[in-house]
Amino acid sequence: MTRYADFYRRSIDQPDAFWAEQAQLIDWHKPFDRVCNNDNPPFAHWFEGGQTNLCHNAVDRHLKDRARQPALICVSTETGLEKTYSFAELHAEVQRMAASLRTLGVQKGDRVLIYMPMVAEAAFAMLACARLGAIHCVVFGGFASGSLASRIDDATPKVIVSADAGSRGGKVVPYKPLLDEAIRLSSHKPAAVLLTDRQLAPMDLVAGRDQLWNDLRAQHMDASVPCEWLDSTAISYTIYTSGTTGKPKGVQRDTGGYAVALAASMKHIFDCRAGETYFSTSDIGWVVGHSYIIYGPLIAGMATLMYEGLPTRGLDLQPDGGIWWRLVEKYKVTAMFSAPTAVRVLKKQDPALLTQYDLSSLRALYLAGEPLDEPTARWISEGLKVPIIDNYWQTESGWPILTIANGVEKKDSRFGSPGIPMYGYKVKLLHESTGEELTQPNEKGVVVLEGPTPPGFMQTVWRDDERFVNTYWKSVPGKMVYSTFDWGIRDEDGYYFILGRTDDVINVAGHRLGTREIEESISGHSGVAEVAVVGVADALKGQVAMAFVVPKDSSVLQDSAGALKLEGEIMKCVDQDLGALARPSRVRFVSVLPKTRSGKMLRRAIQAVCEGRDAGDLTTMDDPAALQQIRDLMNTG
Ligand code: ATP
Ligand code: MG
Repeated sequence: MTRYADFYRRSIDQPDAFWAEQAQLIDWHKPFDRVCNNDNPPFAHWFEGGQTNLCHNAVDRHLKDRARQPALICVSTETGLEKTYSFAELHAEVQRMAASLRTLGVQKGDRVLIYMPMVAEAAFAMLACARLGAIHCVVFGGFASGSLASRIDDATPKVIVSADAGSRGGKVVPYKPLLDEAIRLSSHKPAAVLLTDRQLAPMDLVAGRDQLWNDLRAQHMDASVPCEWLDSTAISYTIYTSGTTGKPKGVQRDTGGYAVALAASMKHIFDCRAGETYFSTSDIGWVVGHSYIIYGPLIAGMATLMYEGLPTRGLDLQPDGGIWWRLVEKYKVTAMFSAPTAVRVLKKQDPALLTQYDLSSLRALYLAGEPLDEPTARWISEGLKVPIIDNYWQTESGWPILTIANGVEKKDSRFGSPGIPMYGYKVKLLHESTGEELTQPNEKGVVVLEGPTPPGFMQTVWRDDERFVNTYWKSVPGKMVYSTFDWGIRDEDGYYFILGRTDDVINVAGHRLGTREIEESISGHSGVAEVAVVGVADALKGQVAMAFVVPKDSSVLQDSAGALKLEGEIMKCVDQDLGALARPSRVRFVSVLPKTRSGKMLRRAIQAVCEGRDAGDLTTMDDPAALQQIRDLMNTG
């Protein structure tokens, strides 16, 4: 086995040779002339001159060896549906979808906006776009009309693909009225809307615009639509960041670089092989869904499990906190990908559910999206008895920046650290104000990447090169480096620790503290289920830390004496771990914390409410009642 250190070195010292080799993991219609063109930084062009197609690599090229093997496994614990498509069946469905889209006028370079629940048709639509060379823009299903309208105006799609409804926890969420309202609000109007009718909610069809997928599909049962060969640098899709820190950014990605990056990550990072099953619990509305529900596993020739529903209901639609593990056993999942927020939901279930199934196929559980606190990591790792591998990345990067590359060299992960830099990423820590590189272990700085960024990384902000350069590459004076806007440290062995967003640093009486460190300390208390810490303006100290805690025992919410006692204990925890300076000025108890629909804590919104300011862009927020609780608490003092 190669030593990872050597593997990594080569990716940095001989990037052309390294990536030319990785590029062999996919099929090229026409070979590339140049591995990386970085003549005009920060715009890196990968595999120039080459032609390929994502759909060909995800579907068609597997027909030779595995036409009858499972490709797409759809499981919904919202409707009870369970259905497997082989590569041959997926190939047929994608061609029917591609033919239907073509009938509606979609051509190479056109945008198709996909506003869908987690159903097979969403996967068909994404792959059909890739097949035709159309640019997909997936918007998380169930987003409100306002946020959908702004994305329609930004993407200016020729066609929108949608459905009658989604469903969440057994409650039907009609999409069609939200979509109609969004199209009414937007200045750009799509020429056509293609609708999957799940028979969950009635739909009013707009004559001349709305088409039913079932009707068009029936007309194209034997469709044969060849893959459009695309330049490696052709745009494959755009996707918005989660909007945790402000207005979401439209990330634009290429074709060839992305395909190579994903193929390489499936091998080197996720240690997966063709014929196995991958299960990511994310949603196609997020980058993880693009990379590791749809493209990555399929490019690797694996079956991908696409799951609709909460982790707490079974296929019989009855409560079942063990459903995910039941599926791992049934489909012999070898790699599973989820988020800390989902594990925290499971933590409220009976731990015995983790040990009832045969999980021997599972080699690792990957978690990403948010800091993985040690108690949560330990709980799930001890319960499942499989390695838990944290991985740190962004919508912008498309694949992990920091993790452990178990496919290259098996290494233990460290609790609290997402890992070490992945091949191709020149990760640096810079001093926040001077911009100087920090070379000593355990110094805190801003995590940045030196260009050229590796294949798969965002090309630019959709239709806004200037915003791309100004937002990401000009935050450090005098240096052109990509800022992640995250704050981190590196230990003696090169393991990184992410300390939170650069704007989640608080300044108490001249001392800089990461809210993440305080949260980590508080979550160590056994009575704490979840916690968010924010810095709140204070006339005397500049800022003070304020903690919002979801207690494990919800009776604390009604019991002021119990709450006071728990608050005191929590403060003592922080005193012991970090010192009295980091102690929050108050610990308040709530039943739920405000998060984005992808489960990320909206600290900036909590902070704004605490300071009596407008909470800003809340279009990606999940549960408005969560912020209201905090507002009420602040008003009652
Ligand atoms: P926006 O950029 O619109 O504010 P966002 O940053 O939440 O939203 P994403 O691209 O979904 O949008 O999230 C990436 C961010 O999530 C990272 O920059 C980091 O702050 C956090 N993150 C992701 N994975 C990890 C991890 N394993 N450990 C710690 N933080 C993580
Ligand atoms: Mg971000």
